[in-house]
Amino acid sequence: MVKNGEIQSPALGVLHEFGHALHDLENNSNFIENSSISIPLYHDKEEQITIDNIETPAALKLGEPIRKNHGGKAVLVPTPTYNRK
Ligand SMILES: [Zn+2]
Repeated sequence: MVKNGEIQSPALGVLHEFGHALHDLENNSNFIENSSISIPLYHDKEEQITIDNIETPAALKLGEPIRKNHGGKAVLVPTPTYNRK
């Protein structure tokens, strides 16, 4: 669950995690060097890049809520693609 009670789907959450895996596989040294930088609202650069470059474009295409931070709360939903704006 993100801001104002909006809910992103579990499927989008899995995509987010695949984004981290992709970054690991790419083994981008510049990215890794910067990944420990603390970014307010995003925790670190890795999360900001994953949210901004992978999660948000997918959320917009799917009509799901977007995040402008790394926050959220886990909630039980009826299906893997359930979301609520
Ligand atoms: Zn993440």
